[in-house]
Amino acid sequence: AKMREERIKQTKTVCTYCGVGCSYDVWTKDRKILKIEPAHGDANAISTCVKGKFGWDYVNHKDRLQKPLIREGNGFREASWEEALTLVAKKLGEAKEQHGPDSIGVIVSSKATNEDGYLMQKLARAVIGTNNVDNCSRYCQSPATMGLFRTVGYGGDSGSIEDIAASKLVLVIGSNTTESHPVLATRVKRAHKLHGQRLVVADPREHEIAERADIHFRPKPGTDLVWLCAMSKYMFDQGYEKKAFLAQWVNGIDAFRASLEPFTMEFAAATCELPMATLIEVAEEIAKADTMCVLWAMGITQHVMGSDSSTAISNLLLVTGNYMRPGCGAYPLRGHNNVQGAGDIGAMPNNYPGYQPVTDAAVREKFEAAWGTKLPPEKGMDNHQMVDAIYSGKMKAMYLAGEDMNSADSNANHVAGGFELLDFFVVQDIFFTETCRYADVVLPASPALEKDGTFTSTERRIQRLYQALPELGESRADWKITQDIANRMGAGWSYTHPSEMMAEMAALTPLYAGVSYERLEGYKTLQWPVAPDGTDQPILYLERFNFPDGKAKLHPLTYRTPMESPDAEFDLFLNNGRLLEHFHEGNMTHRVAGIQEETPERFLEVSPELAEERDIESGRWVRVTSRYGSLKIKVLVTARVQGKQVYLPLLSQEGPVNVLTGSHTDDATDTPAFKETAVKMLVLPER
Ligand code: SF4
Repeated sequence: AKMREERIKQTKTVCTYCGVGCSYDVWTKDRKILKIEPAHGDANAISTCVKGKFGWDYVNHKDRLQKPLIREGNGFREASWEEALTLVAKKLGEAKEQHGPDSIGVIVSSKATNEDGYLMQKLARAVIGTNNVDNCSRYCQSPATMGLFRTVGYGGDSGSIEDIAASKLVLVIGSNTTESHPVLATRVKRAHKLHGQRLVVADPREHEIAERADIHFRPKPGTDLVWLCAMSKYMFDQGYEKKAFLAQWVNGIDAFRASLEPFTMEFAAATCELPMATLIEVAEEIAKADTMCVLWAMGITQHVMGSDSSTAISNLLLVTGNYMRPGCGAYPLRGHNNVQGAGDIGAMPNNYPGYQPVTDAAVREKFEAAWGTKLPPEKGMDNHQMVDAIYSGKMKAMYLAGEDMNSADSNANHVAGGFELLDFFVVQDIFFTETCRYADVVLPASPALEKDGTFTSTERRIQRLYQALPELGESRADWKITQDIANRMGAGWSYTHPSEMMAEMAALTPLYAGVSYERLEGYKTLQWPVAPDGTDQPILYLERFNFPDGKAKLHPLTYRTPMESPDAEFDLFLNNGRLLEHFHEGNMTHRVAGIQEETPERFLEVSPELAEERDIESGRWVRVTSRYGSLKIKVLVTARVQGKQVYLPLLSQEGPVNVLTGSHTDDATDTPAFKETAVKMLVLPER
């Protein structure tokens, strides 16, 4: 019995299913997961959600990639690491030689660790010589980051989950928080129920948190910027703006006020198709709340005006003085576990780690000195531009880790067509994803439970995860694979543990200056910016905003209509999003038996009005077609959606929703406008 007990191991880890950053003790015996226990996490304490508690068994699934694969004809054959890595280094080297470094693109995983990502962007910049490096926040939260960069200076949540729980008013916009960020939603629900917190939800769909709200209103999709600007105008018109705060901390007030002129309540009511009384009621709630936190997600960002609408949120927070205090601020809810970290460590085409611009000569010289090589001075391509550059012949080879771009990017057929044109494509992942089908080499990586490292959660919280299981088969941690490729391209790196990468990054990155593995030991966490002495900062803006004079900026905005609206042929509006039980395209959660059994069948949500008009009932098969693609699915009639809006979970049995969504993108960041797609619905004869 004693021998058996000795084989039982208890290891601290961090959940990989969303940006809340819940941490757990995982109890294992050999490769078997015995139990998962929330214990001491700063983000979750003893709370948990279904994915965090039960979603780990995929690590032992028979589909795990365990050996490198090399394309042979229409299929793949297994290969040794030596052969696969030599081929990758040779092909990337040839592309660099023949077409220049900018003919290569690198995509970093937002599920992998900060250290994995740091090394991969270093490979792109210092070994290949390109700033063509990006991560999947391009598909979700880049517009939120842009909105915050413009107005307050840092692309991060301005406080902590604690602040959200303590706030007098929580305004949730375009976020199905209950299903997408469950543990955070629990905090809001508890504060609302027990502590008198007011809850206002703006969302076209009546999901669970909307049902609980004191006020739920349903703006016409793509019009959020208008009602948000109208709120700011109303504050000034009624004299509700926080005058002392604005005078001390905010620039650009006059130009901003002038820009608000068109955004009357009448205009907002007409454009957003909302009762004016509701808008005024919401404005009064905001004006009288001592503290307000705004939570937002893809319903705001995945539009052509995603950055501008995010900016409008931050403008409103400035006008109402809801920064620089506990219980206040801007909270874009990060989707992947390490979306925040991937941006922080420089997996962006314009920034080195810590949002230090590649175009700043002094910053560049610092990195050149540390990395011992010349670095490219121009901003690189984001992942959307990389796909377009394949079609124009500029992009020849890509190295992509832990991102199923074929299922995640918009206009899936366009992405697949691009990948087919690449001279060389290497994909690193834990399963053979849709994207792997287009690869020349597939490299088997290890998931979080099999590696050491750190993640940075939505509240800028840096946390340690520890290796609970040995690497399965021949799979390896991402950083080891990247290092092996770099060294075969002549880099001469000799990292032996992720702590060395963090130490290197901290020395080069003021935001992470005081971060070390020692200070993150066990359940210890740090919220950036972290001063050299290890002092962290739960409230992001204390004595200054992140601009040279320390003042925030109000950013004037204009409105234009969405790129696609329903018309005579494509007469319905398609919305899309997550299900509680599954993570995104489902590569991991589909391989957890317990979750798979519990998951409701996939469906297209159709409003009772539309069902009546088309004479259909739940369970009826339909074909949904957009200008870009088509899929067949069953209908669920529900009042969660209204009128001519239909809703599809991210992955249906017949394929990703992304075959339907188009190539329109947010003006400022290239984030796909997933939420701006017009479709038509053909009722099929079979029942
Ligand atoms: Fe994981 Fe997010 Fe659930 Fe926490 S709320 S357990 S981080 S999926």
